[in-house]
Amino acid sequence: MSGALGVDWAVDWVRRSAAAVGEHRAELSGLDREIGDGDHGENLVRGFQAVVAKLDDETPATPGGVLKVVATTLISTVGGASGPLLGTAYLKGAQAAGDSESLDAAALVAVLTAARDGVVLRGKAEAGDKTMVDAWTPAVEAAAAAQADGGDAAAVLAAAAGAAEQGAAATEPLVARKGRASYLGERAVGHRDPGAQSSAYQLRAAADAARG
Ligand code: ADP
Ligand code: MG
Repeated sequence: MSGALGVDWAVDWVRRSAAAVGEHRAELSGLDREIGDGDHGENLVRGFQAVVAKLDDETPATPGGVLKVVATTLISTVGGASGPLLGTAYLKGAQAAGDSESLDAAALVAVLTAARDGVVLRGKAEAGDKTMVDAWTPAVEAAAAAQADGGDAAAVLAAAAGAAEQGAAATEPLVARKGRASYLGERAVGHRDPGAQSSAYQLRAAADAARG
């Protein structure tokens, strides 16, 4: 399968996500300070450092195996709402990836869709509620469109990343209806959702890893 992505891509994705949340730690906690409790950067840095340590110990054989390690580690190490939410995303993504040695464009759309559905199942947020769903849902839609247009795996991930970035920016004018930010009412307007922004960083990491 031309351009399909294997376990090396999955590990590189995780390492790039860890690097990205590390680089943007202060920014993510700053966004969370404006409409939450200011811990989102620290939460994700702790979680992804633990994931990288686990993968340094032992590398799974498949992309799905890698995503499963991300899931269980984020769930057990990230305090805060984002741990179980992202953990469920990676867990459902892992299940969609199954035992495949590599993921082609269609498989990646299935993984991203399952991940987004996992966040929604866990957190019950809809698009427009000013949460990470507002990054994941446009990402899934753009990924599916890219695949329908004949895009390969890398093109699917590039489309997802770009849409997630736009989706994160588009949370700024919204009133939050889920999570801590929902306690602020109109005062959340004008601030970007931290979980949407960190989700965009993770999806950009996936796309960058696919480009090599
Ligand atoms: P906490 O809010 O417990 O401090 P974090 O700061 O790590 O956890 O994560 C906050 C992010 O979690 C928010 O920016 C938002 O994107 C996401 N979030 C919170 N509640 C929900 C929900 N019900 N559904 C989807 N995402 C949510
Ligand atoms: Mg927080």
